[in-house]
Amino acid sequence: AKGAGRNVLRWFEPWMVEENDGRLALSAALRQALEVGELSLAYQPQIDLATGEVVGIEALVRWMSPVLGPVPPDQFIPVAEDGGLIVPLGGWVLRTACQGLARIQEELGQPLRLAVNVSPRQLRGSAWLEEVAAAVVAAGIEPSQLEVEITEGLLLEDRGDVVDMLDALRSIGVTIVVDDFGRGYSSLAYLTRFPIDKIKIDRSFIQEITRADTDAAIVDAIIVMAHALGMTVVAEGVETEVQERYLRERGCDEVQGYRYSPGVPADTLPMVARALSRQ
Ligand code: C2E
Ligand code: CA
Ligand code: CA
Ligand code: CA
Repeated sequence: AKGAGRNVLRWFEPWMVEENDGRLALSAALRQALEVGELSLAYQPQIDLATGEVVGIEALVRWMSPVLGPVPPDQFIPVAEDGGLIVPLGGWVLRTACQGLARIQEELGQPLRLAVNVSPRQLRGSAWLEEVAAAVVAAGIEPSQLEVEITEGLLLEDRGDVVDMLDALRSIGVTIVVDDFGRGYSSLAYLTRFPIDKIKIDRSFIQEITRADTDAAIVDAIIVMAHALGMTVVAEGVETEVQERYLRERGCDEVQGYRYSPGVPADTLPMVARALSRQ
Protein backbone atom coordinates (compact mmCIF):
# COMPACT_ATOMS: atom_id res chain seq x y z
CA ALA A 1 0.00 0.00 0.00
CA LYS A 2 2.98 2.24 0.56
CA GLY A 3 3.26 4.76 -2.25
CA ALA A 4 -0.24 4.14 -3.47
CA GLY A 5 -2.21 7.35 -3.32
CA ARG A 6 -0.30 9.07 -0.56
CA ASN A 7 -2.65 12.00 -0.45
CA VAL A 8 -5.63 9.81 0.08
CA LEU A 9 -5.74 8.24 3.51
CA ARG A 10 -7.23 4.81 3.67
CA TRP A 11 -6.93 2.12 6.35
CA PHE A 12 -4.39 3.34 8.90
CA GLU A 13 -0.82 2.24 8.24
CA PRO A 14 2.38 3.17 10.07
CA TRP A 15 3.89 5.03 7.09
CA MET A 16 1.33 7.73 7.75
CA VAL A 17 3.17 8.56 10.94
CA GLU A 18 6.67 7.80 9.70
CA GLU A 19 6.55 10.02 6.62
CA ASN A 20 6.00 13.71 6.37
CA ASP A 21 3.10 13.83 3.93
CA GLY A 22 1.39 11.07 5.85
CA ARG A 23 1.69 12.99 9.11
CA LEU A 24 0.25 16.11 7.54
CA ALA A 25 -2.72 14.22 6.16
CA LEU A 26 -3.19 12.39 9.46
CA SER A 27 -3.03 15.67 11.35
CA ALA A 28 -5.76 17.13 9.12
CA ALA A 29 -7.88 14.00 9.58
CA LEU A 30 -7.40 14.20 13.35
CA ARG A 31 -8.41 17.86 13.46
CA GLN A 32 -11.61 16.92 11.70
CA ALA A 33 -12.11 13.87 13.92
CA LEU A 34 -12.06 16.13 16.96
CA GLU A 35 -14.67 18.42 15.38
CA VAL A 36 -17.08 15.78 14.18
CA GLY A 37 -16.76 13.54 17.23
CA GLU A 38 -14.84 10.49 16.04
CA LEU A 39 -12.91 10.33 19.31
CA SER A 40 -14.09 8.45 22.36
CA LEU A 41 -12.67 7.30 25.67
CA ALA A 42 -12.05 3.86 27.09
CA TYR A 43 -11.69 3.44 30.84
CA GLN A 44 -9.40 0.81 32.34
CA PRO A 45 -9.95 -0.17 35.99
CA GLN A 46 -7.21 0.04 38.61
CA ILE A 47 -7.38 -2.37 41.52
CA ASP A 48 -6.16 -1.95 45.10
CA LEU A 49 -4.09 -5.09 45.76
CA ALA A 50 -4.78 -5.07 49.50
CA THR A 51 -8.57 -5.02 49.19
CA GLY A 52 -9.19 -6.31 45.66
CA GLU A 53 -11.50 -3.35 45.06
CA VAL A 54 -11.55 -1.19 41.96
CA VAL A 55 -10.34 2.19 43.21
CA GLY A 56 -9.68 4.08 40.01
CA ILE A 57 -9.90 4.23 36.24
CA GLU A 58 -7.51 5.46 33.56
CA ALA A 59 -8.99 7.30 30.59
CA LEU A 60 -7.52 6.16 27.25
CA VAL A 61 -8.40 8.01 24.08
CA ARG A 62 -9.75 6.10 21.07
CA TRP A 63 -10.04 7.20 17.46
CA MET A 64 -12.33 5.22 15.23
CA SER A 65 -12.04 6.83 11.83
CA PRO A 66 -14.68 5.88 9.26
CA VAL A 67 -11.93 6.06 6.62
CA LEU A 68 -8.84 4.77 8.46
CA GLY A 69 -10.43 2.36 10.87
CA PRO A 70 -9.13 2.35 14.46
CA VAL A 71 -5.96 4.46 14.79
CA PRO A 72 -3.85 3.60 17.88
CA PRO A 73 -3.24 6.49 20.31
CA ASP A 74 0.51 5.97 20.41
CA GLN A 75 0.40 6.69 16.67
CA PHE A 76 -1.84 9.77 16.64
CA ILE A 77 -0.87 11.41 19.95
CA PRO A 78 2.64 12.29 18.63
CA VAL A 79 0.99 13.68 15.48
CA ALA A 80 -1.33 15.77 17.67
CA GLU A 81 1.68 17.00 19.66
CA ASP A 82 3.53 18.11 16.52
CA GLY A 83 0.50 19.53 14.76
CA GLY A 84 -0.62 21.84 17.56
CA LEU A 85 -3.65 19.69 18.31
CA ILE A 86 -2.66 18.26 21.65
CA VAL A 87 -4.04 21.17 23.68
CA PRO A 88 -7.57 21.03 22.21
CA LEU A 89 -7.45 17.21 22.18
CA GLY A 90 -6.22 17.08 25.76
CA GLY A 91 -8.93 19.51 26.83
CA TRP A 92 -11.57 17.32 25.21
CA VAL A 93 -10.16 14.22 26.93
CA LEU A 94 -10.15 15.97 30.30
CA ARG A 95 -13.72 17.27 30.08
CA THR A 96 -15.08 14.04 28.66
CA ALA A 97 -13.27 11.89 31.23
CA CYS A 98 -14.55 13.99 34.15
CA GLN A 99 -18.11 13.65 32.82
CA GLY A 100 -17.49 9.93 32.33
CA LEU A 101 -16.29 9.54 35.90
CA ALA A 102 -19.37 11.35 37.20
CA ARG A 103 -21.68 8.96 35.35
CA ILE A 104 -19.69 5.86 36.29
CA GLN A 105 -19.58 6.57 40.00
CA GLU A 106 -23.22 7.54 40.09
CA GLU A 107 -24.05 4.16 38.56
CA LEU A 108 -21.64 2.40 40.92
CA GLY A 109 -22.72 4.34 43.98
CA GLN A 110 -19.13 4.77 45.02
CA PRO A 111 -16.41 7.35 44.23
CA LEU A 112 -13.38 6.40 42.12
CA ARG A 113 -10.20 8.18 41.11
CA LEU A 114 -9.68 9.19 37.50
CA ALA A 115 -6.26 9.12 35.80
CA VAL A 116 -5.77 11.24 32.69
CA ASN A 117 -2.69 11.15 30.43
CA VAL A 118 -1.18 14.55 29.83
CA SER A 119 1.42 15.54 27.24
CA PRO A 120 4.20 17.95 28.27
CA ARG A 121 2.94 20.73 26.01
CA GLN A 122 -0.39 20.83 27.81
CA LEU A 123 1.39 21.88 31.00
CA ARG A 124 3.03 24.99 29.57
CA GLY A 125 1.47 28.25 30.60
CA SER A 126 -1.44 28.39 33.01
CA ALA A 127 -4.39 27.38 30.79
CA TRP A 128 -4.32 23.73 31.90
CA LEU A 129 -4.91 24.62 35.54
CA GLU A 130 -8.01 26.59 34.62
CA GLU A 131 -9.22 23.79 32.37
CA VAL A 132 -8.84 21.30 35.20
CA ALA A 133 -10.72 23.51 37.64
CA ALA A 134 -13.51 24.13 35.12
CA ALA A 135 -13.83 20.47 34.07
CA VAL A 136 -14.03 19.28 37.66
CA VAL A 137 -16.71 21.82 38.58
CA ALA A 138 -18.72 21.11 35.42
CA ALA A 139 -18.74 17.37 36.16
CA GLY A 140 -19.41 17.79 39.87
CA ILE A 141 -16.36 15.80 40.96
CA GLU A 142 -13.55 16.69 43.36
CA PRO A 143 -10.05 17.73 42.18
CA SER A 144 -8.69 15.19 44.68
CA GLN A 145 -10.22 12.44 42.53
CA LEU A 146 -8.06 13.44 39.60
CA GLU A 147 -4.66 11.97 38.75
CA VAL A 148 -2.46 13.49 36.08
CA GLU A 149 -0.13 10.99 34.37
CA ILE A 150 3.04 12.53 32.98
CA THR A 151 6.04 10.77 31.44
CA GLU A 152 9.59 10.88 32.66
CA GLY A 153 10.60 12.83 29.58
CA LEU A 154 8.78 15.82 30.98
CA LEU A 155 10.89 15.75 34.11
CA LEU A 156 14.01 15.79 31.98
CA GLU A 157 12.99 19.11 30.52
CA ASP A 158 13.36 20.48 34.00
CA ARG A 159 11.51 23.68 33.25
CA GLY A 160 10.49 25.99 36.02
CA ASP A 161 7.00 26.54 34.61
CA VAL A 162 6.34 22.78 34.54
CA VAL A 163 7.28 22.52 38.20
CA ASP A 164 5.04 25.51 38.95
CA MET A 165 2.17 23.81 37.13
CA LEU A 166 2.66 20.52 38.98
CA ASP A 167 2.80 22.41 42.29
CA ALA A 168 -0.36 24.31 41.43
CA LEU A 169 -2.21 21.13 40.45
CA ARG A 170 -1.11 19.51 43.65
CA SER A 171 -2.22 22.48 45.72
CA ILE A 172 -5.81 21.97 44.50
CA GLY A 173 -5.56 18.27 45.42
CA VAL A 174 -4.63 16.64 42.09
CA THR A 175 -2.31 13.60 42.30
CA ILE A 176 0.82 13.66 40.11
CA VAL A 177 1.76 10.28 38.64
CA VAL A 178 4.93 9.44 36.70
CA ASP A 179 3.82 7.09 33.90
CA ASP A 180 5.98 4.39 32.24
CA PHE A 181 8.46 4.66 35.09
CA GLY A 182 11.80 2.99 34.39
CA ARG A 183 11.43 2.95 30.65
CA GLY A 184 13.10 6.12 29.59
CA TYR A 185 15.42 8.49 31.22
CA SER A 186 14.95 7.54 34.83
CA SER A 187 17.09 9.45 37.11
CA LEU A 188 16.27 8.95 40.73
CA ALA A 189 17.20 12.55 41.38
CA TYR A 190 14.15 13.70 39.42
CA LEU A 191 11.87 11.97 41.85
CA THR A 192 12.98 14.14 44.71
CA ARG A 193 13.17 17.35 42.67
CA PHE A 194 9.61 17.17 41.38
CA PRO A 195 6.31 17.12 43.22
CA ILE A 196 5.38 13.49 42.57
CA ASP A 197 2.83 11.41 44.49
CA LYS A 198 2.73 8.16 42.60
CA ILE A 199 4.82 6.00 40.28
CA LYS A 200 3.48 3.74 37.57
CA ILE A 201 5.94 0.96 36.77
CA ASP A 202 6.29 0.50 33.02
CA ARG A 203 4.66 -2.66 31.71
CA SER A 204 7.88 -3.88 30.05
CA PHE A 205 9.25 -4.65 33.54
CA ILE A 206 6.03 -6.33 34.65
CA GLN A 207 5.98 -8.56 31.62
CA GLU A 208 9.47 -9.87 32.34
CA ILE A 209 9.07 -10.20 36.12
CA THR A 210 8.89 -13.98 36.05
CA ARG A 211 11.40 -14.48 33.24
CA ALA A 212 14.22 -12.06 33.88
CA ASP A 213 15.85 -11.69 37.29
CA THR A 214 17.06 -8.22 36.41
CA ASP A 215 13.56 -6.94 35.70
CA ALA A 216 12.27 -8.46 38.92
CA ALA A 217 15.11 -6.74 40.78
CA ILE A 218 14.24 -3.41 39.18
CA VAL A 219 10.58 -3.79 40.13
CA ASP A 220 11.59 -4.60 43.72
CA ALA A 221 13.84 -1.57 43.84
CA ILE A 222 11.22 0.79 42.42
CA ILE A 223 8.64 -0.33 44.99
CA VAL A 224 11.05 0.03 47.92
CA MET A 225 12.29 3.40 46.72
CA ALA A 226 8.84 4.81 46.01
CA HIS A 227 7.60 3.80 49.44
CA ALA A 228 10.69 5.23 51.11
CA LEU A 229 9.87 8.52 49.37
CA GLY A 230 6.26 8.34 50.53
CA MET A 231 4.88 7.61 47.06
CA THR A 232 2.22 5.13 45.95
CA VAL A 233 3.14 2.46 43.39
CA VAL A 234 0.90 1.15 40.62
CA ALA A 235 1.93 -1.55 38.13
CA GLU A 236 0.56 -1.46 34.58
CA GLY A 237 0.33 -4.28 32.05
CA VAL A 238 -0.43 -6.97 34.63
CA GLU A 239 -1.63 -9.94 32.60
CA THR A 240 -1.11 -13.06 34.73
CA GLU A 241 -1.84 -14.38 38.19
CA VAL A 242 1.87 -14.99 38.72
CA GLN A 243 2.64 -11.34 38.05
CA GLU A 244 -0.13 -10.27 40.42
CA ARG A 245 1.11 -12.55 43.18
CA TYR A 246 4.67 -11.28 42.77
CA LEU A 247 3.54 -7.66 42.98
CA ARG A 248 1.38 -8.31 46.02
CA GLU A 249 4.24 -10.04 47.86
CA ARG A 250 6.47 -7.05 47.13
CA GLY A 251 3.93 -4.60 48.49
CA CYS A 252 2.89 -2.93 45.23
CA ASP A 253 -0.21 -0.84 45.99
CA GLU A 254 -2.29 -1.00 42.83
CA VAL A 255 -2.48 -2.96 39.58
CA GLN A 256 -3.93 -2.43 36.15
CA GLY A 257 -3.88 -4.67 33.09
CA TYR A 258 -5.59 -7.20 30.88
CA ARG A 259 -5.72 -9.68 33.78
CA TYR A 260 -8.52 -7.50 35.11
CA SER A 261 -9.90 -5.65 32.12
CA PRO A 262 -8.88 -3.72 29.02
CA GLY A 263 -10.19 -0.19 28.59
CA VAL A 264 -13.99 -0.29 28.18
CA PRO A 265 -16.66 2.34 27.40
CA ALA A 266 -18.11 4.35 30.30
CA ASP A 267 -21.43 2.50 30.23
CA THR A 268 -19.68 -0.89 30.53
CA LEU A 269 -17.24 0.09 33.28
CA PRO A 270 -19.66 -0.19 36.26
CA MET A 271 -20.50 -3.78 35.32
CA VAL A 272 -16.81 -4.65 34.96
CA ALA A 273 -15.96 -2.95 38.26
CA ARG A 274 -18.70 -4.83 40.12
CA ALA A 275 -17.56 -8.16 38.73
CA LEU A 276 -13.92 -7.44 39.65
CA SER A 277 -14.70 -6.27 43.17
CA ARG A 278 -16.70 -9.46 43.80
CA GLN A 279 -13.80 -11.73 42.92
P1 C2E B 1 -0.14 4.35 28.58
O1 C2E B 1 -0.58 5.60 29.27
O2 C2E B 1 1.07 3.66 29.10
O3 C2E B 1 -1.42 3.42 28.57
C1 C2E B 1 -1.36 2.03 28.76
C2 C2E B 1 -1.51 1.32 27.45
O4 C2E B 1 -1.32 -0.09 27.68
C3 C2E B 1 -2.89 1.44 26.82
O5 C2E B 1 -2.73 1.38 25.41
C4 C2E B 1 -3.60 0.19 27.32
O6 C2E B 1 -4.69 -0.22 26.52
C5 C2E B 1 -2.48 -0.81 27.27
N1 C2E B 1 -2.65 -1.90 28.22
C6 C2E B 1 -3.42 -1.93 29.33
N2 C2E B 1 -3.31 -3.10 29.98
C7 C2E B 1 -2.43 -3.84 29.27
C8 C2E B 1 -1.89 -5.17 29.44
O7 C2E B 1 -2.19 -5.89 30.39
N3 C2E B 1 -1.01 -5.60 28.49
C9 C2E B 1 -0.66 -4.82 27.43
N4 C2E B 1 0.21 -5.34 26.54
N5 C2E B 1 -1.12 -3.57 27.25
C10 C2E B 1 -2.01 -3.09 28.16
P2 C2E B 1 -3.41 2.48 24.49
O8 C2E B 1 -4.79 2.76 24.96
O9 C2E B 1 -3.19 2.00 23.10
O10 C2E B 1 -2.57 3.78 24.77
C11 C2E B 1 -1.24 3.87 24.36
C12 C2E B 1 -0.63 5.16 24.83
O11 C2E B 1 -1.26 6.29 24.21
C13 C2E B 1 -0.80 5.41 26.32
O12 C2E B 1 0.12 4.66 27.02
C14 C2E B 1 -0.55 6.91 26.39
O13 C2E B 1 0.83 7.18 26.37
C15 C2E B 1 -1.16 7.39 25.09
N6 C2E B 1 -2.49 7.94 25.37
C16 C2E B 1 -3.68 7.29 25.46
N7 C2E B 1 -4.67 8.15 25.74
C17 C2E B 1 -4.11 9.38 25.84
C18 C2E B 1 -4.61 10.71 26.13
O14 C2E B 1 -5.79 10.94 26.37
N8 C2E B 1 -3.69 11.73 26.14
C19 C2E B 1 -2.36 11.52 25.91
N9 C2E B 1 -1.54 12.57 25.94
N10 C2E B 1 -1.86 10.29 25.64
C20 C2E B 1 -2.72 9.24 25.62
CA1 CA C 1 -0.92 6.22 31.28
CA1 CA D 1 2.07 3.61 30.98
CA1 CA E 1 2.94 4.86 27.57
